[in-house]
Amino acid sequence: MPLAAANSRALPLMEAFRTVQGEGAHTGRPSFFMRIGGCDVGCHWCDVKESWDASKHPVTPLDELLSLPSAIDRTVVITGGEPLMWDMGPLTEGLRARGLKVHLETSGAYPVTGTWDWICLSPKKTKAPLPEWYALANELKVIVYNDHDLAWAEEHAACCAPGVERFLQLEWSRRAIQLPKIIAYLEQHPEWRLGLQSHKYIGMP
Ligand code: SF4
Repeated sequence: MPLAAANSRALPLMEAFRTVQGEGAHTGRPSFFMRIGGCDVGCHWCDVKESWDASKHPVTPLDELLSLPSAIDRTVVITGGEPLMWDMGPLTEGLRARGLKVHLETSGAYPVTGTWDWICLSPKKTKAPLPEWYALANELKVIVYNDHDLAWAEEHAACCAPGVERFLQLEWSRRAIQLPKIIAYLEQHPEWRLGLQSHKYIGMP
């Protein structure tokens, strides 16, 4: 189906796979991931640049998307790309109707759609989150590439609800450089936790 046919009931699907959540508050939980194509946020360190061009991913009908998780799946993580470039309403409602928990990974750069059981907001410097996301976020995940990102993380945390779970996540290519600095920061700021891409350490997608 050509990309022009994409809408809330037919989305560009880059990949879908079962793995263990490697990041954030739900680290270690077996999860089914759906990676939706399309992103114009433009992070230079992005590790899924092949997701950016939505036209490279097959537009997949809603019924097919909803059939992908199996009976053993409990949690579906919708990620990208930036999935909120698309209306997530029918997909999230259909998955929840199947009894699945539906989690989101988003930059917050696009308006809220969908019904979510867990929202991980990961703001990016290249395209700021819309203000509506801060109150909805259950988890704030800031990727730390350089020293300034620590102060920048605090700016976003100040906008979130008090109970938001906070993670300073090592950017993979800079992990050796930034890890000692982040740990030193965590010692002074215990409201934050170290975020790892633990799936990469165990060789999972
Ligand atoms: S928002 Fe995510 S998918 Fe988009 S460029 Fe940034 S890291 Fe990559």
